[in-house]
Amino acid sequence: MAKIAFIGLGHMGGGMAPNLAKAGHDVRAFDLVAAAVEHAVDGGCAAAGSAADAVKGADVVITMLPAAQHVRAVFENDVAPNATKGALLIDCSTIDVASARAVGGAMTAQGFDFVDAPVSGGIAAAASGNLTFMVGGSDAAFAKAQPYLEPMAKAVIHAGDLGAGQAAKICNNMILGATMAATCEAFAMAERLGLDLQTFYDISSKASGQSWSMTSYCPVPGVGPDTPADHDYEGGFAAALMLKDLRLAMDAAQSAGAYTPMGAEAEKLYQRFVDRGGGNKDFSGLIRMIDDSWKVPEEQK
Ligand code: NAD
Repeated sequence: MAKIAFIGLGHMGGGMAPNLAKAGHDVRAFDLVAAAVEHAVDGGCAAAGSAADAVKGADVVITMLPAAQHVRAVFENDVAPNATKGALLIDCSTIDVASARAVGGAMTAQGFDFVDAPVSGGIAAAASGNLTFMVGGSDAAFAKAQPYLEPMAKAVIHAGDLGAGQAAKICNNMILGATMAATCEAFAMAERLGLDLQTFYDISSKASGQSWSMTSYCPVPGVGPDTPADHDYEGGFAAALMLKDLRLAMDAAQSAGAYTPMGAEAEKLYQRFVDRGGGNKDFSGLIRMIDDSWKVPEEQK
């Protein structure tokens, strides 16, 4: 079994690291937040005092950090100077393709194997080991990474060369941002039309309006499976992170010359939600802006 350093134990990493420990690996976990480390220790990981401490002597280093600046800083300042050359480095955070290529290229040049391996699935899938990993890197690096991703995954897919995992992830999350916004709109309108929301869910989840946003992550409390909507939109996938992903998607669209009107509209909606203080709420909380619970003035909608 391998020595694995796991850095970033938030909503996602906090669920993922214990699944590697359960698979029998020696997992040394670090986060800037002490309570997050304690949670990982409860899940069978060992506490590391710093990121540098975690990576020393590790066979594999896995990161699950908020954004590109955190990834760059951790790999440049903590991982590269302290990890053993030849170690396998796996970044699971969602970041832009260029940063993934830059960090991965720099690590590869220093003698490490590197893959970008962002995930889809949300916190429930992270905790239960049912994430979908989309992996960018060489065939050899992918083959090396696959067995370490399996205990956290329902699917591990090689997307292509370095950065291809991130390219797949932002395309996927552009769909997610747009379908969640459409699902929120539909429920808010259904209510105004006098439909019972559970009944509408029962119909649409078995009709052509079905999507992951509806049946796995319903934005309406008390309807569908247990989701952040049932916990006042706490936990889950922060709206600020969804906005980050939509911005990444719009930047990528611009550089690729792709026409993405739905993605652009979703970005505007999430920008408004974040501007009105929703950044730390789960992204499905957008329904509270759309259904007027947040009392957004008509002219600002
Ligand atoms: P989060 O903010 O809950 O967790 C990130 C963690 O990283 C925090 O606990 C933070 O303290 C820690 N951290 C930041 N800088 C650090 C450093 N220098 N050293 C150690 N720890 C550090 O975020 P999350 O929801 O877990 O998301 C993580 C990544 O996964 C993001 O890129 C996000 O876009 C992506 N993602 C999230 C979800 C979701 O449903 N939450 C789903 C798919 C992908």
